Formats: sequence, structure tokens, C-alpha cells
Amino acid sequence: MSAIWIVAENPDWAAVMVSAAKSVSADALLTVFIPPLPADGLWEDYAPSLVAKAKAEKPSLILVGTSKRGRDLAARSAALLDAPCFSDAKNLALSGNTFSCDTNVYGGSAVRSDSTTEPLVLATIGPKAFEPDPAGISGATAGTLDYTPGKVKVTGRKPRPPQTVNLGEATKVVSVGRGFSEEKDLAAARELAAALGAEVSCSRPIAEFFKWLPEECYVGISGQIIKPQLYVAVGISGQAQHTFGVRDAKVIVSINKDAECLMHQNADYCITGEWQAVIPALVKAVKA
Ligand SMILES: Cc1cc2nc3c(=O)[nH]c(=O)nc-3n(C[C@H](O)[C@H](O)[C@H](O)COP(=O)(O)OP(=O)(O)OC[C@H]3O[C@@H](n4cnc5c(N)ncnc54)[C@H](O)[C@@H]3O)c2cc1C
Repeated sequence: MSAIWIVAENPDWAAVMVSAAKSVSADALLTVFIPPLPADGLWEDYAPSLVAKAKAEKPSLILVGTSKRGRDLAARSAALLDAPCFSDAKNLALSGNTFSCDTNVYGGSAVRSDSTTEPLVLATIGPKAFEPDPAGISGATAGTLDYTPGKVKVTGRKPRPPQTVNLGEATKVVSVGRGFSEEKDLAAARELAAALGAEVSCSRPIAEFFKWLPEECYVGISGQIIKPQLYVAVGISGQAQHTFGVRDAKVIVSINKDAECLMHQNADYCITGEWQAVIPALVKAVKA
């Protein structure tokens, strides 16, 4: 593979994609583009410049971070280049002139493998899909893209409220689901988290519908994808959309009153019982 391009919103994500690129080809020439967010436009407005450069310089693979902006940029560029684009790609490989990769389908409950012999392929890469390359982007050439104002003019941006937890860095996480019927019940989960030295996360309904925790706290395919050493799921049924976000956790503990729940099937340790009885006993045991 002659040249691989990486388009990222920040150097950390670019370092993850350097690893992805090296998994495809150890000796490809790497170019990293980190175009700044335009003040009055969209990140995808770099697509015309990326496309023009790709037509002229003919890279074999363009990797883009799977952020909302990255998805837009990758899809628009792929359409303009008439090239295939794989979303959230994993297990990238090159054999001869055949590029292959895996993507998750059906809400993360199945994996699809694709391959192509197209001369140019685009793929988006999640922030945790690979370990960041230890050398970061230092071994790559820095590329630049020109911003071409599009039809959408951004008149203002509001900062998101500051994040209360950093789940991406957390080594232990206690996560709550709809097994909790009132917001005040979360105090019990917080007590367990404090005893374990863990952060608190949740399933999507707790954040999106009940608003008991901020949206950046929910785990799953449309929320955070995390890799803690310990994940304790309390009152979470374990639907595929949720477990997708913790499939790489080292140890999963499920506390649920339903012995048949899916979360138990995805867990290393299962405690069947009402959290109202299990959590105090666990807190006592951990403190002891
Ligand atoms: C496109 C799409 C994307 C989605 N993305 C996500 C996502 O990113 N993250 C996510 O979490 N969900 C996501 N969902 C929703 C997902 O499908 C489930 O609906 C959701 O995860 C269920 O949340 P839950 O487990 O908290 O609730 P429920 O499914 O209602 O489960 C509650 C559990 O609590 C147990 N329970 C009840 N009382 C107690 C008690 N006293 N003690 C112990 N256990 C008890 C029950 O046995 C049950 O297993 C998505 C859905 C769609 C369609």
C-alpha cells in the first residue's frame, strides 16, 4: 500500500489511526491532516480539498476519526471520490491488492466482514478501536487542507456543559439502569462507586429519557465506548446496544434480579438479586 492518509480532529485520535494504518501496512507513507474547525463553517467543508488532493496524489487508504464530524467528512468525500467507505472499521488488513475490514451491524450484535479491490478506500476509525501508536504522529508527514465554505454558515456555537466524569480514563465503573426506579436511588450506586473508587455511568434511558445523569455518562453503541478494568452493571438488562460499549471491559459484574437477563450472559460474575439488598452487602464487603 503506497500511501495512507489520516484525517483527525486532534493528535490523540490521529495516533490511534497511526496504529490502524500500521496494522494495514508497516511501510506505507503516512500523512496526517488535522484541519481546525472553521469558525463559520463545518468540518466537512474540507471535503472538496481532501477530494482534490486525493485525486491528484492517489493515496490507497484514507482513515477518518468516527466522530459526528468525521463521519460527515468521510461520507461526503467517499461519494465525491466514488470510493467505498467503511464505518467504524476494525481488523483492517491488506492481502495483495485486496483490502478487508470488519464493521459492526445490527446494533453491535453481529460483525460483518467486507473486502474490496478498489484502488482507494475510506474507513472511519473509533477513538478506542486501536491502542494509540506510542510514537504518536511524529513519524508521519503533516498535511494541510483548504477550507471551502459550503452552503451552511455557522452563526454561533455553544460550549457543552463541562463533563463531570471522564469515563474514557476510568479503570472502574459502576453503571446504573432502569432497575433503579427513582433518581434518589442513585445514591446507593454512588456509595458502591465510592467504596470501589469507581466512576458512575448508566444505560441510555437513565441519561436520555430520565435525565438523571448527563448524556456523556451513558454507555453503548450510541454513547460511550469504554474499556475499564472493572464494570459493574446494576439493574441493566444488557441489550446489545448497551453491551457494545463495554465489550472490551476486563471484568464485568452484573447485578440483576432476573437470573435470565442478557447482562448476566455477558458478565464474568453474576449476582442475582434486588440491588436494594445486594449493594449494601457489597459496600460492606468492599469496605471490610
Ligand atoms: C438505535 C438504538 C441505539 C441504542 N443505543 C443505546 C446505548 O448506546 N446505550 C444503552 O444503554 N442503550 C441503548 N439503546 C437502548 C437499549 O436497546 C435498551 O433499551 C437499554 O439499554 C435498556 O436500558 P436498561 O437495561 O437500563 O433498562 P431495561 O431494559 O428496562 O432493564 C432494566 C433491568 O433492571 C432489572 N431490575 C429491575 N429491578 C431491579 C432491582 N430492584 N434490582 C436489580 N435489578 C433490577 C430488570 O430485571 C432488567 O433487567 C439503544 C436503542 C436503539 C434502538
